[in-house]
Amino acid sequence: MNSEPKPSESPVPVAEPAEGQESLPAKVLATATKPLRRAATKLGGALRRETKPKVDDVTPSRPVLVEFKDVCKVYDGHQALDHVSLKLYKGEFLSVVGPSGAGKSTLIKCLTLQFRPDAGRIVVAGRDITLLRNWELPYYRRKVGIVFQDFKLLPSKTVWENVAFALEVSDVPRREIRDRVGIMLETVGMTTKRDNFPHELSGGEQQRVAIARALVHDPKILIADEPTGNLDPVNTWEIIELLYKINKSGTMVILATHDREIVDALKKRVITMREGKVVADQEKGTYLV
Ligand code: ADP
Ligand code: MG
Repeated sequence: MNSEPKPSESPVPVAEPAEGQESLPAKVLATATKPLRRAATKLGGALRRETKPKVDDVTPSRPVLVEFKDVCKVYDGHQALDHVSLKLYKGEFLSVVGPSGAGKSTLIKCLTLQFRPDAGRIVVAGRDITLLRNWELPYYRRKVGIVFQDFKLLPSKTVWENVAFALEVSDVPRREIRDRVGIMLETVGMTTKRDNFPHELSGGEQQRVAIARALVHDPKILIADEPTGNLDPVNTWEIIELLYKINKSGTMVILATHDREIVDALKKRVITMREGKVVADQEKGTYLV
């Protein structure tokens, strides 16, 4: 979790794993709208083109990167997280699903230390993050990138400035900022819009910029909390495809969503939450609730 990328390195580390022959379920494609179908087929093609040997997402051979141990969070007497225990593995793509109010965002906020849980431990890369001192939090948060449904870009800054800002506040040298922002905008396909302001971009483009900003510190974990909630089907699939690509390059992705089609199409590990509890954990999951 600690090494900063050198300017010459891609901020998205080059990966390990490998998926085998995968395709999007015919059922999903059959029910999808035309543009969605086109985008989903494209993603299915990308998945099928993977020819390396199959390695399961959840495999004991992969190291545990995050462990929730009996985590509880109560808001004003309401138990938002109820003894959650989970192991998340390095480099996996994990979907967290469940109805509104199930506790998905609360789980994420505990992992990003927006607040500390009331009970339990959260161990990230061998360290109990609930014990981090306040001065350590900014350093920790750089290693856990996050994007939201409403993008949260700074409206008065350009695309470039929005991404660079995350580095400027952490005293990265100017030249390195230039290199890293350039690489990130290229990774998310936003180089040509570098001088535009957020209001001049589509929702999908804004989310790409938010993803570039989340990746600029080379996090080991990228968290996306309902990232497609404000997007149309085509943009939704483009963002999911981008998350998939980022995961392929080695970054763990945690996707909180209540979009059944996405989860069913991905066929990755799915954790289902209900009323603050993890009620299912499927290795190649589908949407259960
Ligand atoms: P999800 O992301 O799955 O929709 P949340 O984690 O946002 O669920 O919320 C879980 C539960 O905690 C819900 O019942 C919600 O109303 C409650 N909750 C979330 N945030 C707060 C808060 N800041 N104050 C009080 N209750 C909250
Ligand atoms: Mg939520």
